[in-house]
Amino acid sequence: MLTIKNLSVTIANKEILKDISLNFELGKNYCILGQNGSGKSSLAMTIMWNPKYSIESWVLSIEKKNINDLTPNERAKLGIFLAFQHIPEIKGVKVFEFLRSIYDAKNGTTTSFLGFKKIIEPMIIELNIDKEFLRRDLNVGFSGGERRMLEILQLKLLEPKYIFLDEIDSGLDIDAIASTAKILWNINNKKNSLIFITHVFKIIEHIQIDEVVVLEKWLLKAKWDKKLIEKIKKEGFK
Ligand code: ADP
Ligand code: MG
Repeated sequence: MLTIKNLSVTIANKEILKDISLNFELGKNYCILGQNGSGKSSLAMTIMWNPKYSIESWVLSIEKKNINDLTPNERAKLGIFLAFQHIPEIKGVKVFEFLRSIYDAKNGTTTSFLGFKKIIEPMIIELNIDKEFLRRDLNVGFSGGERRMLEILQLKLLEPKYIFLDEIDSGLDIDAIASTAKILWNINNKKNSLIFITHVFKIIEHIQIDEVVVLEKWLLKAKWDKKLIEKIKKEGFK
């Protein structure tokens, strides 16, 4: 279980999150909803660690072990994964090399070029991605769909436990949302947890969600309930 206790966050002296306590249990899927600017991305960034945010006393723990002082890569090694809402483009870093280095960092290995080719190519074929994709610069000029494929490849290679997906539905057409959801649903199992951050509902129509969290600086927790979602769709978050 990933546990957050009493988290308050400010940025540029502005209070964004206040006294948030939240558990993410493996085997359950979550959805974090909230208006634009309600702090959804800030919450994910804080869990992954981002120096932009000032954090007041809080506890972040995995399986009861306090991980407040861990760096992002150490948190990633423990199984936290964040798909960014705004993805950086890195010219000169090839997708193949990027994927090979995160794979090796996770496993403490040094995989050869050919060795990694054997690992990655079946995944590329399974996902119906052109091989040329591996030779491209990281995220440079990627379409919404290609960005998602890169994230899905990372999920397959790293097999993280707590998977935060920040608006992964943005920039995708209806068909791409459905196919991305299907792949994520296949990745989902009792040993991981999908955490969708969204303000449209299309993507979660395809996934079994166990708990909904609504952020508005403070926290409102609710069991997954289609009626609640219909109410939010009709009446908004207020
Ligand atoms: P959401 O993801 O729910 O749309 P965010 O977490 O991105 O919301 O933003 C929460 C609040 O923090 C917003 O009011 C936003 O304007 C503010 N914010 C985010 N980044 C900065 C920044 N670098 N400087 C000042 N305010 C910021
Ligand atoms: Mg956001």
